Amino acid sequence: MAALSSILNAVLDFALPPRCPICGVTVEGDHRFCLGCWQKLDFLVEPWCASCGKPFEFAQAAGTKCAACLIEPPDHDGVRAVTAYDDNSAVLAMGLKYGARLGFANLIANHMARFVDDDMTDSLIVPVPLHRQRLWSRGFNQSVLIGKLLATANDIPMRTDILIRRKATPPLRSMSSSQRQKTVNNAFHVPDRAKKAVAGRSIILVDDVYTSGATANACAKALKRSGSERVLVFCWARVLKD
Ligand SMILES: [Zn+2]
Ligand SMILES: [Zn+2]
Repeated sequence: MAALSSILNAVLDFALPPRCPICGVTVEGDHRFCLGCWQKLDFLVEPWCASCGKPFEFAQAAGTKCAACLIEPPDHDGVRAVTAYDDNSAVLAMGLKYGARLGFANLIANHMARFVDDDMTDSLIVPVPLHRQRLWSRGFNQSVLIGKLLATANDIPMRTDILIRRKATPPLRSMSSSQRQKTVNNAFHVPDRAKKAVAGRSIILVDDVYTSGATANACAKALKRSGSERVLVFCWARVLKD
């Protein structure tokens, strides 16, 4: 069913005039927002925490870390989120994930490209994996779609075989932070055959939404245990309020 609706949406995306993915008004080109929605989106910019990338309200000295990172440093090396998670950015995330609006992945990847630096050409793009049961029922992994577009546009290789989700985890949303950690703990692993590809490498971990960081952290932990040098998280939207 998911596969069929993806095909239908792909056909519709092709046949109809381009529309703003948030409000639906006709726009000039594919993969663009209308001006009104563009202005409403909360694009995240510096200054941000040197460790997790959470934006600061006011300018801070270079290298300043947020309180949360000082108390408990994350396993990853920073988050680059295009927008804050709110009603507007959620339309894209939800439309892609649950509405199979696969064209939204283009828009997300285009925006993520601004986080790619010259020193990342030797990196590997690794999408956050879905458990095979969920992949089977949804028909696609939204992070793989975004990652593939980001990889092609920036000439960075993507690998989907080096990080495996061995545990299907329930939605983390309503859990406390320690419950979340416990739930995703050991959910991810790097198989032995992939360890060589990870050792000493910088990884760009791609996800659609960064909520509590528990998933990204569990992925980073597994990648670093296998010798990855740095794990940067790229995502479309980040939840900033507790
Ligand atoms: Zn709009
Ligand atoms: Zn921080």
